[in-house]
Amino acid sequence: MSSTSRRNADRASTATWRPDAGRVPDYPCSVGDDIGPTFDLLILGGTVIDGSGAEGFAADVAIVGDRLRILPRPAQEDAEPGRDALAGSGGADSAAAEASVPPKRVIDAHGLVVAPGFIDLHSHSGLMILADPRHEPKLRQGVTTELIGVDGNSYAPFPRREDLLAFVELNAGLDGDPPIAYDWDSVAGHLGRLDRSVAVNVACLVGNSALRASVAGWDDRPAKGGEIASMRSMLREAMEEGAFGLSSGLDYPPGSYADTAELAELSEEAARGDGIYHTHVRYQLGDRYLDPFREAIEIGRRAGAPAHITHFYHRATYPGGPEPMLALLESARAEGLDVTFDSYPYEWSSSRLLIELPGWVQSGGPPALKRRLADAESRRRLAGEIGERWASAGLDVPADIRLGNFRKPEHRRWEGRTLADVARELSADPVEAMLELLAADGLHVNEVRSGPAAASLPAFIAHPLGMVGTDSVFVGEYPSPRTYGSYPRILGEFVRDRKLLSLPEAIRKMTSAPAARLGIRDRGLLRDGFFADVVVFDPRRIRSLATYEEPRRFPEGIDYVMVNGQLVVDGRRHTGALPGRALRH
Ligand SMILES: [Zn+2]
Repeated sequence: MSSTSRRNADRASTATWRPDAGRVPDYPCSVGDDIGPTFDLLILGGTVIDGSGAEGFAADVAIVGDRLRILPRPAQEDAEPGRDALAGSGGADSAAAEASVPPKRVIDAHGLVVAPGFIDLHSHSGLMILADPRHEPKLRQGVTTELIGVDGNSYAPFPRREDLLAFVELNAGLDGDPPIAYDWDSVAGHLGRLDRSVAVNVACLVGNSALRASVAGWDDRPAKGGEIASMRSMLREAMEEGAFGLSSGLDYPPGSYADTAELAELSEEAARGDGIYHTHVRYQLGDRYLDPFREAIEIGRRAGAPAHITHFYHRATYPGGPEPMLALLESARAEGLDVTFDSYPYEWSSSRLLIELPGWVQSGGPPALKRRLADAESRRRLAGEIGERWASAGLDVPADIRLGNFRKPEHRRWEGRTLADVARELSADPVEAMLELLAADGLHVNEVRSGPAAASLPAFIAHPLGMVGTDSVFVGEYPSPRTYGSYPRILGEFVRDRKLLSLPEAIRKMTSAPAARLGIRDRGLLRDGFFADVVVFDPRRIRSLATYEEPRRFPEGIDYVMVNGQLVVDGRRHTGALPGRALRH
C-alpha cells in the first residue's frame, strides 16, 4: 500500500468505525484487567521489533492510557499482505469480536515497523525545549526520551541565580539562551518546568560545571578539600531529586578546571546514588588520541562508577585508527569495568565557538572573559596560542569552522559562512576575526566543524557497546545535520542500504540499551505494562534528508510517534501534544 492510501485508510477507518462493520481482532477489550477495559489507541498489522535485539514478530500494539499492551497475531493472519484490517473485513474477521467499545484511534501499520521510542543519550535541549516545547526536530526522528545536562553543562543545581545566568551566557553558543524565566535553582525545580510541558520525556544529569561554578567559582584552579565535599553534597541532593548521574565536558570551563582526582570523587558520589559518569573527555590531554579516553576509564575505575563516553568517534587527524580506541574500551570491560559509549552518525560536530579558546582566557567567568576579549594584550597572546594550535591541527581550521547563531543585524549575513570567508571579507587574520566576532556579537556564536571521520563511523555505530546520542544542538540556522537526521540515517543508510548492522540490533542500541544504561525500568522495550513510547516507521522508506548544506530537513518514513500513549507525530505532522514527563532516577 502506498503511504498516501495508508493514511487515507487510516483516516477513514477512524471516522467510520462501527462495532458491526470492520472489527478489531478479539482482544479482550472488555475484560476489566489491570490495564483497563478500552484501548485508547490500536496499532494494527505491524511488525513489532521490541527493542530487546530479538527479531521482529507479528503483533498489534494497544495503548491504554499511557501504557502498552502487546497482542501477538497468529502467524496465518500475516499471510495476507496489504490487507486493511478495518476498512475491509480482511483479517479482522478472524477475531472473536468482543470489542463492543471501539478504540479511540486505530493506526494501520501493515508493512511498517513498530518499535519503542528512541532514547537519546546526548541532547542540548535543557533550555531550548522550554522555548519550543514541541521539539519537532527530535520527535520527527522518533525520539521519545532524551538526556540533558550533558558535557558538564547542566542548568541545575544553581543555588544562586546570578551564577545560572552567567552560565547560560557562557554556554549560549551550544545550548542557546532563550527568553525564559530561569526561575529554578535545583534539579527538582528544573525538572518541574519540563514535566508535562514538553513533547518528549526528559532525564537529566548534573554537570560538574554547575557544581564547580556554585561551590568553587569560575577560576582556573584546583578545588580544595572542603569544596569537593560541598560539591559532593550538592550532587547527592540532586541525585535524590531525580538526576541520573554526573556529566563532565572537559573542554568547557569551569568544569574543565577539575582534575582526575576531583572527577573521581564526584563520580563516586554519583555511583553511590546508582548513577553514571557521562563524559565528554579532555580532548587536549596527553597524546590527544587515546589518553583522553584513558582518563575517563581511570575515573570510572577509581570511583567504582559506570563510565559512559559520549560522542565517541575517530577523527581523520588522529595519529592512529579507530580500532585502538575501541580496544581500549573492550579491555576495560575485560578488566570488569562498566564502560559504554554513544555516537552519532554524521561527520559534523558542533559546539560553542568559545571552545576554540584556551582555558586561561575563560577563567573568572563571562565578565573576565569579555574583558580579555576587549584587551589588546590578551588578544595578542591568544592569537599566538590559537594560531599555533590550529597550525598543528592537520587541517585548515578557519576553512573548517562554519559560523552561526549571530544576533547583530550587520553580522547576520555571515550565518552559515566559514571563518576563513569572514576573515577574508574583514581583511583580518582568522584568529583575530574570531575574537572580534565573539567580542562584538557576543559569546553565543556557534561553530560546526568536521568531526567523525566518515570511514570510521560504522565501527562505532555498529559496535555492541555503542548506543546513540545525537548531540543535537538547536541554535543557528545551519546546525550539524545530526540534530535532524541521526536516527533515520542509521536506520536508512547504515542498516538498510549498507547492511552494517541488523535492524533489531540498531533498535536495541536506540532503546533498551540506553534505558538500561540509565536505569529506566519501564521504557525502552515494547512490553505489556511499559510506558507507551512508540515509533512507527517504514523500513523501506526511512531516511534522513538532513545534510551539511541543508541541515534543517525532517526525515522521511517515520509516520507516527507516541509519547506516554499520546500521538505527537501523526502521519508526519506534529500534533502539538506535550505529553513528555520529567523522569526521575
Ligand atoms: Zn554535546
